[in-house]
Amino acid sequence: MGFPFLSTTDYEYANNFLDRRAGVARHYNHVRGVLGDGSLERAHDGIDLYVERGTPVRSVFEGIVINPARRWRPWDPARYGRTVVVISTEPTSRGYTALMVHLSRVDVRHGDRVRRGQVVGRTGDTGNAEGVPIHLHFELRAPFELRLREAGRIRHVDAFDPYPSLRAADPQRPHARR
Ligand SMILES: [Zn+2]
Repeated sequence: MGFPFLSTTDYEYANNFLDRRAGVARHYNHVRGVLGDGSLERAHDGIDLYVERGTPVRSVFEGIVINPARRWRPWDPARYGRTVVVISTEPTSRGYTALMVHLSRVDVRHGDRVRRGQVVGRTGDTGNAEGVPIHLHFELRAPFELRLREAGRIRHVDAFDPYPSLRAADPQRPHARR
């Protein structure tokens, strides 16, 4: 996997996978607890990388741009905002998807083939990122469902912790603060 930014970009991130998040948990979202009214408390399915608005976002895979609304139902544009999803065609990660969320601009269309490192959009605050510092919400999802026990129930989810993959691909890693 590649990294969504060039090494010359000023970015910062920590592992905030599974942090508490407001809003309804869809069947494909991780959860961290049960609220007083019995509803499920949603968890953060990705990692937030803080950068300047308008930073070019690069595909971490060679692959094909797909429509998330066809793969994860019901998709929630009000939450994700402008999003690019690339499904990998690389031999070592075939079928895995990378989600790049809250973009200000999208430079590709569903069905496009993209190279690893190709600019697919620009960072922004669309969706539920309005009013918070500009960041790229980044997710990795598997081509199968993980069967996990969360909040005392069995969940079938495909998003997994992208932090180790980001760290391994991070071009600033030798200099990055932990
Ligand atoms: Zn996020």
